[in-house]
Amino acid sequence: AKSAGSGLYRFYDASLNAIAVRGLELLGRFRQALKENEFCLHYQPKVALQDYRVVGVEALIRWQHPEHGLIYPGEFIGLAETHDLVQPLGHWIIEAVCRQLAQWRDDGLPLVPVAINVSAKQLNDQRLIATVRESLQRHQLSAQWLEIEVTESCFITDLEQARQTLEKLRDEGLRIYLDDYGTGYSSLSHIKALPVYALKIDRSFVRDIRNDNSDGMIVASTVTLARNLGLKVVAEGVETREQLMHLKLMGCDEVQGFYLQRPVAAAQLAPLLQKGWFD
Ligand code: C2E
Ligand code: CA
Ligand code: CA
Ligand code: CA
Repeated sequence: AKSAGSGLYRFYDASLNAIAVRGLELLGRFRQALKENEFCLHYQPKVALQDYRVVGVEALIRWQHPEHGLIYPGEFIGLAETHDLVQPLGHWIIEAVCRQLAQWRDDGLPLVPVAINVSAKQLNDQRLIATVRESLQRHQLSAQWLEIEVTESCFITDLEQARQTLEKLRDEGLRIYLDDYGTGYSSLSHIKALPVYALKIDRSFVRDIRNDNSDGMIVASTVTLARNLGLKVVAEGVETREQLMHLKLMGCDEVQGFYLQRPVAAAQLAPLLQKGWFD
């Protein structure tokens, strides 16, 4: 039955039907996958443009599926969100990141803060703060080593609740990044009302920064806005040297992207943490 199943996937390939079938299959295995540790985190460095130091890393979830191999979050985060699985998944991620930080520390590596992506549902969940506190305590970590990335979609359903949760996290000592900045519901009132440390410019604006004048303008005005509000600016999705130089010239503080480093497993990141910077 197993081989008949994968044969079907090949046959329909990208059809909506196959995607729906696979979604159902993933959903059916989700809780078991959490218990059996099929999820893992990859890490991508954030690099300061001033001196090319590694100033942090972002944790990105993957699912090492026994049959389908490595599955990216685009395929299962949405499912988790619509089926009440974000809380257990989020819990797993926070604990896994803290365990990893403790491991790096115990291995004698210099630590950098690790940013985790948090979805809207998590911000509306009172248990988030307790989970963060408990994991930090369990691994004897200071809150400065955890950071939070949120997208503006987090503020659509309940801005006030999200704001309160973020303020508590900030008061605990965690930095908050506004992710995918410039897409969707960008609103100055969000930035003003929320305890944000930095804006992360979406990679769609970085892609054509050299050729598309309006993308360049968006990046430039984001940098200006951030400067005036005392926020840092991080650009994501930097794939070329040209893009990096352009962003540097525009006054962007930090970059992330395949050009410097793809997201990799913890063990592969260790040498870079040890070294601490890019040449
Ligand atoms: P994101 O937070 O905007 O993460 C950046 C995405 O861009 C990642 O995709 C990363 O692998 C990819 N990326 C990094 N550098 C480059 C580059 O130079 N070029 C290109 N083309 N892409 C680059 P990934 O890992 O597939 O994650 C996709 C999205 O899934 C994330 O977007 C985030 O919204 C969500 N996600 C990932 N991990 C988690 C998690 O642990 N929890 C939650 N709630 N969401 C997560
Ligand atoms: Ca992110
Ligand atoms: Ca992003
Ligand atoms: Ca994104």
